[in-house]
Amino acid sequence: MIVFNKVNKYFGDFHVLKDIDLTITKGEVVVVIGPSGSGKSTLLRCINHLETISDGSLTVNDIPVNDKKTDINKLRRNIGMVFQHFHLYPHKTVLENIILAPMKVLGKSEAEAKETAKKYLEKVGILEKADSYPSQLSGGQQQRVAIARGLAMSPEIMLFDEPTSALDPEMIGEVLDVMKTLAHEGMTMVVVTHEMGFAKEVADRIVFMDEGRVLEESKPSEFYENPREERAKLFLSRIL
Ligand code: ADP
Ligand code: MG
Repeated sequence: MIVFNKVNKYFGDFHVLKDIDLTITKGEVVVVIGPSGSGKSTLLRCINHLETISDGSLTVNDIPVNDKKTDINKLRRNIGMVFQHFHLYPHKTVLENIILAPMKVLGKSEAEAKETAKKYLEKVGILEKADSYPSQLSGGQQQRVAIARGLAMSPEIMLFDEPTSALDPEMIGEVLDVMKTLAHEGMTMVVVTHEMGFAKEVADRIVFMDEGRVLEESKPSEFYENPREERAKLFLSRIL
């Protein structure tokens, strides 16, 4: 579904992604970990063309992401993204935040968009907050709204960039639970996170990045118990 083939990316002279080969199949849950600055966010952002690649090829459902003929908006409709900071519109209610893109981008009627929005708010467990403003919600609740907003576009792929790292510890679980449900339902997910419990429970694969390279790809049990790469061992010894 997502295929990186010898992908390189530079920011000016800085070589941020180096010869990335990575294939993610439908329904797979891939957790990306690695030190700060290793290129995890950039890797994710290339998938929905928030960043352009410098060379190599990157396809989503066989469509070349960086081809001039590719309809980027169509590509993005199929890919939901959840960030560390929730990026909700502060002056709009929870429901208004969720119906915006389905109405503008998918051309849904307000009634239809609201119905879908409520379905996803129920799914993430905060239907009762539909008419609240983001500032009236806890961080965990805001992040669940952000997930519902992504799901409301009916994407085939969900990208998560450190979705729990800005949250107070007691709110991490409620967000991870929603993500686990999605994973069990077969959503294709690429998740940058250092949450080992989540990774062990739902990840099919761990991708370890360091200095712009994918150094190791293994099953969670293998990776956490017996990492092959010295740099992965060192990294784990620091975060665990
Ligand atoms: P990670 O998510 O693993 O912490 P990033 O992908 O955010 O890493 O960043 C990788 C490297 O690229 C970092 O050194 C960062 O400073 C640099 N970088 C990220 N975005 C830009 C940008 N827009 N321009 C220049 N350098 C960038
Ligand atoms: Mg990052």
